[in-house]
Amino acid sequence: MSKKKFDTDAVRSGYQRTEQQEHSEAIFTTSSFVFDSAEQAEKRFSNQEKGNVYSRFTNPTVDAFERKLASLENGESCVATASGMSSIFATIMGLLSPGDHIVASRSMFGTTIVLLDKIVSRFGIEVDYVNLSDINEWKVAIKSNTKMFLLETPSNPLGEVIDISNLSKLSKTNDILLAVDNCLLTPALQKPLDLGADISIQSATKYIDGQGRSLAGAVISNQKIIDEIRLFTRSTGPTLSPFNAWVVLKGLETLRIRMEAHGSNALKFANWLQNHKEVKKVFYTGLESHPHHEIAKKQQEGFGGIVSFEVQGGKAKAFDVINNVKIMSISANLGDTKTTITHPASTTHGRLSPEQRLESGITDSLLRVSVGLEDIDDLINDMNNALLV
Ligand SMILES: *Cc1c(COP(=O)(O)O)cnc(C)c1O
Repeated sequence: MSKKKFDTDAVRSGYQRTEQQEHSEAIFTTSSFVFDSAEQAEKRFSNQEKGNVYSRFTNPTVDAFERKLASLENGESCVATASGMSSIFATIMGLLSPGDHIVASRSMFGTTIVLLDKIVSRFGIEVDYVNLSDINEWKVAIKSNTKMFLLETPSNPLGEVIDISNLSKLSKTNDILLAVDNCLLTPALQKPLDLGADISIQSATKYIDGQGRSLAGAVISNQKIIDEIRLFTRSTGPTLSPFNAWVVLKGLETLRIRMEAHGSNALKFANWLQNHKEVKKVFYTGLESHPHHEIAKKQQEGFGGIVSFEVQGGKAKAFDVINNVKIMSISANLGDTKTTITHPASTTHGRLSPEQRLESGITDSLLRVSVGLEDIDDLINDMNNALLV
């Protein structure tokens, strides 16, 4: 998709204005819809006539968000959910059955790992983990019952990357669905479906809202896959509220310019950190020193706003830095205009076992900063003061 089409679609696509001629999108805070007649109700319920019935199934504000996001991800269809986690859960439960096998990246959002290990596994779905960036590990992990590859690229917090189009050749040959959690880059910077993935998943809670105001999630794919996932969400209920849909719908309008500004601040921040004497190692795919910089440059339109780094010293030093920043917020959230700082080993990845953390490279000296949109010199000064305490 051209940048031009993206920018115009981000602002203009998705919404069907009502006869009130409102310019900004309306919020349809209604649980149900009425019918002109008993006959119309019958037709709506039996799907002979398109139209709204009940907001657990469809809602005009939610529809507008779904259409706009589908267009930005270059997908045929989209289903929105109450959060990113419910999108991941609905993707798995809507498409897989007991006896199926998932190969998943070891470097995923902590709650995704908990979901797979503690919940999905109880329903007879097997999961094996591999090193995200090693295509050979994906290949070797395939079994006769493997139905899905699940991953995030770049990973959080270390920014590891896999070549999506390479992996999609492997998944297609083996009739496996490739699902990519695209939360960290959003469609402004990466379009997994264009690169060969079957499914793109978003936690719209993060950059798509961009201002930390609401939880929301979405799955984008072809119509057939979305129909199956929607059957799951409309029957089990983790649907997106119209108000939250409106918030994230408005977020999409400014997504690209925010992602570019996050990326430009993050690159300056990472470059500065690299030369700091209290910093051992910086993880940001925008740095040429990052082992996956080249592949990130090839498949992404930018590097995003997440910068992680190891401080000289262990957990105590990392905690000192967190406790001494003045501008940055101590928060495990990311993708906000406000810069946040967190210690992954004791927060986002705290429920992983020490072995799982070690395998994922989440050390006790690691800090993750979601670089926001404040002035970059202020952020650098803030971090410098905290590092030197
Ligand atoms: C936050 C996050 C999620 C979960 O999203 P929620 O909206 O908090 O449920 C999933 N994947 C990634 C990469 C995330 O950062």
